[in-house]
Amino acid sequence: MIRCGYCGYEFSEEEGIRGCGKCGKPGGCRMVRCPRCFYENLPEPGTVKKMKKLLEKLK
Ligand SMILES: [Zn+2]
Repeated sequence: MIRCGYCGYEFSEEEGIRGCGKCGKPGGCRMVRCPRCFYENLPEPGTVKKMKKLLEKLK
């Protein structure tokens, strides 16, 4: 889950609005926008995702 740094709304990376495509960052913008207030949040770090996957496998 990503917690919006602006309004505190919690949403999944899939739910957020990905890649603005306008800021011209190399390789595309990886920021995820909050579906509520459109604040740009950093995507979930890959390590956290890997941990979650591992935990899911253990269930
Ligand atoms: Zn927000």
